[in-house]
Parts: sequence; C-alpha cells; structure tokens
Amino acid sequence: MCSGRVDLEFILRAFSNGVDGVFVGGCRLNECNYITHGNYHALNLVLLCKKIMAHIGLNPERLRIEFMSGGEGILFANKVDAFVQTVRAIGPLGQAEAIDKDELTAKLEAVTRLIPYIKIVKREKLASRLENEDAYDDFFTGEEVDRLFSEVVSYHIDPERCQACMICLRKCPVEAIAGGKKQVHVIDQDKCIKCGTCFDACPPRFGAVEKITGGPVPPPISEEERTISKQRSSGKQ
Ligand code: SF4
Ligand code: SF4
Repeated sequence: MCSGRVDLEFILRAFSNGVDGVFVGGCRLNECNYITHGNYHALNLVLLCKKIMAHIGLNPERLRIEFMSGGEGILFANKVDAFVQTVRAIGPLGQAEAIDKDELTAKLEAVTRLIPYIKIVKREKLASRLENEDAYDDFFTGEEVDRLFSEVVSYHIDPERCQACMICLRKCPVEAIAGGKKQVHVIDQDKCIKCGTCFDACPPRFGAVEKITGGPVPPPISEEERTISKQRSSGKQ
C-alpha cells in the first residue's frame, strides 16, 4: 500500500528475477496521510539503488520513482508508458550492459547480502527528507557508493581472546555466531549482516571481537581447535 514499504531487497530481487525495469509509484510528496512520510524514504532508497546499480554496471535508468495521487490515473498511465519506452530503448537486462548473466547474478547476490549493512551505514540519509529536486542526482554520489563497497566492515572473533562467555552469541540477531560453553566462538561470515552488535557486546576486558575494514577475514579455526581446555586469563595480552 505504501511506497515506504519498498525495500532495496524488493528492487534487487526483481532484477535478480530478470525484469528489465522497476517502477516505484508513491503518493505525492508532502501529501502522505501519515506522519511517517514513507514516500521520502522510498525516494532516498531509489536514489541510493540507482547509484548501486551504476556501481555494478547496470543502467540506473532501469529504475524510476514517480509520485502521484490515487485520483491521477491518466498521469500514472503516462508515466508508466514513458518508463516502458525508456526501458525498451535500453534493451534487455545485462545484455544491453554487456554483463554476462552469471556475473550479473553474482553481483546482485553480493549486493543483496550487504543490504542490512548498507541500511545501517546510510540510515541517516535514508531517513532524511529531500525537498529540493535539484539535489536528487548528487544526494548519493558514485564515489560514496564505491567507498561503501570498498570499505565494507567485517567482524571476526580472535580465538586467542575469546572467553566463551556466550554474550555475543545470545545477542546476534541472525544467529551468525557458533559456539558454546568452553568453546571459542566463530562468526559465520555468510550469515553475518555486519550489524556490529557482537563488537559492542563483547566485554572490553576480553576485546575478542575485531572489526576489519575492507580487508580479508581470517579463516575460521577448525572444530577441534575451538575447545577451551582450561580457564583463560581475562584481559587483552
Ligand atoms: S556483526 Fe551482527 S550479525 Fe554479524 S556476527 Fe556480529 S552480531 Fe551477528
Ligand atoms: S562476547 Fe567476546 S569473549 Fe564472549 S563469547 Fe563472544 S567473542 Fe568470546
């Protein structure tokens, strides 16, 4: 019902399913019936997604947002017609951009995995109200989005410091941490949404969770190496 419900995931899923274009229709700005003004959120999200599309080599014109009231049926039809013409002129998804199908699938999957992280990093901008249409193009810049992906943060538990207290495991919102009593905890990088909760939750005297920016994450230690046989001294070495 509300364009504020549109999520980055919906748009990327549509492209992953092979659609050539995505049209988001929202109520006119400043005419939202609710205090939430979800259409501003949808606008910000679309502007960000366009830059992400450019980052992975897709034509950002494949995505468009337009605002109209429920009584403007002709305007809606005209806007959709114009969009369809634009997308037809661009051509089939990926093919027109000379991106191999498997490569495009891999790129869309990689971005989709990072959606929670992207929303955390850009939460303030995504929540803002962009009143000036002239500012749309530069609200998110290409450099900013390139940096977003080159400086992706990862979290890793240092096996030498982990005390198996289980605090991080209990707080992780997506059950990405494996461990138990007397067992060094390990983060499953495929499940981790990079929320940083474990980093904040690990007691400072242990300081076992490391934040890695843009670099490779050390491979997880084997099951056999995870058992902590005797009490470790707390505190950083
Ligand atoms: S960063 Fe968040 S999702 Fe990832 S392991 Fe830590 S708590 Fe879980
Ligand atoms: S909170 Fe820190 S010390 Fe405790 S299990 Fe997690 S990583 Fe290990």
